[in-house]
Amino acid sequence: MIPFEYAKARSETEALELGAGPRAAFVAGGTTLIDLMKLNVMLPTALVDINDLPLNNIEALPDGGLRVGTMVRNSDLAHHDAVAKHFPLLSQALLSGASPQLRNMATTGGNLMQRTRCYYFRDTAYACNKRQPGSGCAAIDGFNRIHAVLGGSDQCIATHPSDMAVALVALDAVVHIKGTGGERKVAAAEFHLLPGKTPHLETVVQPGELITYVTIPSSPFAGHSAYVKLRDRASYEFALASAGAALELRGNRIHSARLVLGGVATKPWRSSEAEHVLTGATADGKIFHAAAEAAMESATPHRYNAFKIELAKRAIVRALNNATQVKPEGQS
Ligand SMILES: Cc1cc2nc3c(=O)[nH]c(=O)nc-3n(C[C@H](O)[C@H](O)[C@H](O)COP(=O)(O)OP(=O)(O)OC[C@H]3O[C@@H](n4cnc5c(N)ncnc54)[C@H](O)[C@@H]3O)c2cc1C
Ligand code: SF4
Repeated sequence: MIPFEYAKARSETEALELGAGPRAAFVAGGTTLIDLMKLNVMLPTALVDINDLPLNNIEALPDGGLRVGTMVRNSDLAHHDAVAKHFPLLSQALLSGASPQLRNMATTGGNLMQRTRCYYFRDTAYACNKRQPGSGCAAIDGFNRIHAVLGGSDQCIATHPSDMAVALVALDAVVHIKGTGGERKVAAAEFHLLPGKTPHLETVVQPGELITYVTIPSSPFAGHSAYVKLRDRASYEFALASAGAALELRGNRIHSARLVLGGVATKPWRSSEAEHVLTGATADGKIFHAAAEAAMESATPHRYNAFKIELAKRAIVRALNNATQVKPEGQS
């Protein structure tokens, strides 16, 4: 039997010391990690429980932005007054995820670090380069209906599952990471990695590093923002295609835009092509369709998932429409 340890960290320093051990893993809400341990997919030999760390606050920043502790639960973040009023895209993305019970447990840091829902990754009977580097990919020639049409490689085509991460990328959020060597900040857009030849490396977080906070700056486009998620059933299901849109509107003109996709790519997918089409244009259906076409132009379908390309286009158009209709706080 493999020796197994469990310890509760009382401070960030203690968490980092305990987390530096070989095959140690932080456990927050446990809704990803414990599942994957039961499936023999993630096999830490020590669990460092970070639930007692004082990182569970949402603080207002002087510029109107927010600082969100890693232990803030998804439900608390979604229903926070400032999030619901000033960052509707984030609130909507969080509330579209999982179930109320899961959102009560799931944390900000854990959500960013959640693993793919590729069924071959979660089943040790199949080859999976992400789970076991060099073993092959059962999805590329297998049943790949839920897989990525953007950002894949010849090693892995798994989608990134987080809804919240899509919103954070669209809102120019920054992830704060602490290690024994000090602290660093990483833009949410740079936090997740493309699979390339190393699909087992999913984020910039190094072993033993702790996410402490996420900061979300005030921005001219956060007010007019929306998230649309399309999936096989209305709730308790991951995205087949989703879109987060945020628009800085001056009258009917789009001064700047953020368009990020979920469910169709190997990481939260910011589409500079769509943003280019939108910037400077009049906010109308014609331009929204043009943006959707541009976003999906480089998509590569696999045997069972070509439908995702059209689905993503529809999510984009709907999210852009919804974003224009949001009335930011203070505007009549
Ligand atoms: C049935 C089901 C349906 C779901 N549906 C959705 C959905 O529709 N949309 C969606 O977005 N998500 C969905 N999820 C995923 C859910 O959002 C994640 O499981 C959850 O956000 C993970 O957070 P956690 O705190 O429970 O993480 P944990 O399980 O505790 O940890 C996950 C990983 O993050 C690491 N980690 C945690 N905190 C830190 C930290 N501070 N620093 C460094 N590493 C850390 C852990 O070591 C572990 O590797 C679903 C999950 C389930 C079980
Ligand atoms: S798509 Fe990625 S996660 Fe899924 S089987 Fe292939 S390598 Fe594994």
